[in-house]
Amino acid sequence: MPTFRIAIVGAGPAGYFAAQALQNAATESQSFAIDMIERLPTPWGLVRSGVAPDHPKIKTVSKVFEKIATAGNFRLFANVELGTDITTADLVEKYDAVVIATGSSLGRKLGIPGEDLPGSLSAAEFVPWYNAHPDFKNVDIPVDCDTAVVIGAGNVAMDVARMLALEPSELDTTDTADHAIEVLRKSSIRKVILCARRGPEHAAFTSPELRELPKLEHTNVVMSKAEIESALARVGDSPEKDVKNNLAAMELIANQDSTTHDRTMEFEFFLAPIEIRGKDRVEEIVLGINKIVDGKIVATGETKTIKCGLVISAIGYEAEPIEGVPYIKGKVVNTDGRIEGTNMYTVGWAKRGPSGVIGTNKSDASDVVKLLIADLPAQPKNNGDIIDLLKDHQIVTQSHWEQINAAEVSKGEPLGKPRVKAVDRHELLRLGGL
Ligand code: NAP
Repeated sequence: MPTFRIAIVGAGPAGYFAAQALQNAATESQSFAIDMIERLPTPWGLVRSGVAPDHPKIKTVSKVFEKIATAGNFRLFANVELGTDITTADLVEKYDAVVIATGSSLGRKLGIPGEDLPGSLSAAEFVPWYNAHPDFKNVDIPVDCDTAVVIGAGNVAMDVARMLALEPSELDTTDTADHAIEVLRKSSIRKVILCARRGPEHAAFTSPELRELPKLEHTNVVMSKAEIESALARVGDSPEKDVKNNLAAMELIANQDSTTHDRTMEFEFFLAPIEIRGKDRVEEIVLGINKIVDGKIVATGETKTIKCGLVISAIGYEAEPIEGVPYIKGKVVNTDGRIEGTNMYTVGWAKRGPSGVIGTNKSDASDVVKLLIADLPAQPKNNGDIIDLLKDHQIVTQSHWEQINAAEVSKGEPLGKPRVKAVDRHELLRLGGL
């Protein structure tokens, strides 16, 4: 029976679901040997370094990942970077097919004056910082101000705003990075304003996330009742299901009794960033006030200035290019996941851009794997093992990772946390016994 060797680059949800689709597609006449390559010493991608720590339920999908990893015919090569430790050309030569599942890790830029001032940063830095990503440990987050502004109306903006507006003790039982808890404990920020450039009916939030906000125990969540009523009037009787659910969730927030906690998270609509100002650091942000005319968003020409010491933009992501892989507009160039003229494929955010929840990657990967299998030649290649190219390299294999995982979990146990994450690469390797 032929066994085809498939490399999956990137150990996030899209990569694991591609592996699962291959495992499910194995038959008596063909099977697949899967090698998953990951540049960090730890797998799980955004489930480890993206999902907000106060959303532990979402992270339970990691159990599925571990089942895939231990189902046989699967090897993990973590701490191996494509482009540095091995090349795309090596993989293309050695494997029958290569699946690029490297996601989108670069934050989109606002492209406005002042964006590079200290105190202005992207969610692509802030989120991995609080999630203990080794490359973001030293990001400077100025929290010695009373107001922070978050730009964007998607779930990442909501995560960022919530993390800044929470009472830090609420993070004590989470796997938030220790360094982040320490900084957030000292934070003087008491008001976080999330600015959307369009109306409530256009927001990219999802309703389960909105419905959680009224449950915050130590934070006032403020949304204008009049704003939501106007949005409801604009969409009329038959809005799309998602819009209807979102507006219903927003109505609950807007109608709830006002609270008098120290901390406030406020939603503002129809505000588009124009300029971030400050002498040596962020001191204020100027936003253009928008309105709707004939269903279109237009600038009124008026502006609003918000004094703040921190601005975080959460306006989407772009893929970080890998040598030997074609990119256009922040995504891998592909047709339905095929990278034409090669034995490479792409799945997840690298393929379709930064959209969808974790589960979206399952059907997406399954569709691409169908194409991959249909394209396979009759016989597998026999071009040697990738291990031959990584002889002196410290590879974090599945069993090393299991040691890291167990060490983090047992460190968390006495503290009532799901785990205490190691942040430093050397420490992670040490925990893995390397
Ligand atoms: P997103 O959902 O695409 O939202 C991006 C937001 O940025 C939109 O509101 C967009 O507004 C705004 N924006 C874009 N360019 C802008 C600009 N120049 N100025 C002002 N605003 C701008 O992206 P995301 O929040 O990064 O999330 C990515 C994906 O991950 C989404 O599918 C999300 O649902 C998912 N996610 C899910 C969870 C969860 O399930 N809990 C958590 C985090 C992320 P316009 O609409 O006006 O363009």
